[in-house]
Amino acid sequence: MQYEPVIGLEVHCQLLTESKIFCGCSTRFGNPSNTNVCPVCIGMPGTLPVLNRRAVEFALRAALALDCEIEPVSVFARKNYFYPDLPKGYQISMYDRPLAVRGHLDLEAGGRTRRIGITRIHMEEDAGKLLHEGFADSDRKSHVDYNRSGVPLIEIVSEPDLRTPEEAHAYYSALRAILVYIGVTDGNMEEGSLRCDANVSLRPAGQQAFGTKAELKNLNSFKFVQHALEHEIERQTDLLSRGEKVAQETRLYDPAEGRTYPMRSKEEAHDYRYFPEPDLLPLRVDRAWIEDVRRQLPELPAARRRRFAEKWGLKEQSAQVLTASRPLADYFEATATAAGDGQAAANWIETEILRKIKEDRIEVRDSADIPLAPERLGRLVKMVRDGAISGKIAKDVFETIYATGKDPDEVVREQGLAQVTDEGPIREAIEKVVAENASQHARYRSGKSALLGFFVGKVLQATGKKANPALVNRLLKERLDRP
Ligand code: ADP
Ligand code: MG
Ligand code: ZN
Repeated sequence: MQYEPVIGLEVHCQLLTESKIFCGCSTRFGNPSNTNVCPVCIGMPGTLPVLNRRAVEFALRAALALDCEIEPVSVFARKNYFYPDLPKGYQISMYDRPLAVRGHLDLEAGGRTRRIGITRIHMEEDAGKLLHEGFADSDRKSHVDYNRSGVPLIEIVSEPDLRTPEEAHAYYSALRAILVYIGVTDGNMEEGSLRCDANVSLRPAGQQAFGTKAELKNLNSFKFVQHALEHEIERQTDLLSRGEKVAQETRLYDPAEGRTYPMRSKEEAHDYRYFPEPDLLPLRVDRAWIEDVRRQLPELPAARRRRFAEKWGLKEQSAQVLTASRPLADYFEATATAAGDGQAAANWIETEILRKIKEDRIEVRDSADIPLAPERLGRLVKMVRDGAISGKIAKDVFETIYATGKDPDEVVREQGLAQVTDEGPIREAIEKVVAENASQHARYRSGKSALLGFFVGKVLQATGKKANPALVNRLLKERLDRP
């Protein structure tokens, strides 16, 4: 029996506001424990929450970028449970009246588009963080840090539209790219700015109805999402093939062991006793506000990808790589404009700039974080295109301008690197090389035409890599055919 996986993701995303969702405390990551706190976010009785307008704006931005419908009225609700990282005994979230519904995200691959539905986006507050130390019972301690308590989150729930672990991976990374692009999150997965729970079930191929799902928690990287799903699909396939049933439960993924194990079953599932939060009014978002946020949305990755292909003639692969982040896309556009050649600019960025960024471990949050100004790189690309310098020399000039920030024209002038397109000096070098390599010349003439490469190399070397290679090729061929 063949089984088809059905997958839906629930993604929590921390919003990049300066202050928390219901109080004025800082959201800064990495401050000393319990310094970003006040009576509101540590849940003192008698305190009252006040909604952060900027958090709503960011949530709206995300909802619009994912083509959701914004509800004119949404309602915060109390989700009740006890845990030491939740001092109020409830989390303020949204339940049956979420902020936004019915959106979608289009996955593009190999010229095909797969539309993944977004069921809903709602706002909520984050909980604190527990820190455990020690292993033996005698020295085991737990600490709680409330800095994260009350940091604004949105939860983005997908429809069960995904069909493979690779597709889940692609959806999650496209979602991250959009959220980072529009500036609502830093997307930092190590710091927990994005967190994902994956739901997966199997059904016999061809069957409409969904099977029983398991929910996988603790997936804090793209790789983990994909691997955990692969393992879980294998486990469920085994069960079903043996005629057993999949239990509806929450499972944890252990990346070290490469397996999932049960955390709690449906029977143990919490009854959260949701009810409308009495300390907050319903959230009303009017048309004018929505249109205002829509106007401020930047061009999204998919639109930018299409524009790069149309305006700059980029190949799909290049357009994909260069729109992966907004600063890189900005850098590309500035380079391409200065170079007057999109694909050539793209090639330089994809090979040289990305290599440097990786080698130097540069974190690119803004295009200005790339040490070489795009105008300089563009100028270099243009010099190669115009035949002012050879491609080989350009690599050396690149190293120099990258390291020093100098103007490429200046480097070429100072070091006398301009390409030699004058036939005179090239012919001179050819005569010298042919005279010095008479035996190779004889072998060339007796039919060993592959030796042309050897001669081209010698002549380029003799001209300090400055000779125009096409010209060298033509003149050499003419010369080598003669005795
Ligand atoms: P729950 O009430 O258990 O949280 P929801 O209906 O809210 O379930 O769905 C949570 C997530 O699980 C969504 O992303 C949804 O797409 C996904 N999902 C729902 N049913 C299935 C299923 N049978 N198989 C796989 N994923 C599912
Ligand atoms: Mg759920
Ligand atoms: Zn606070």
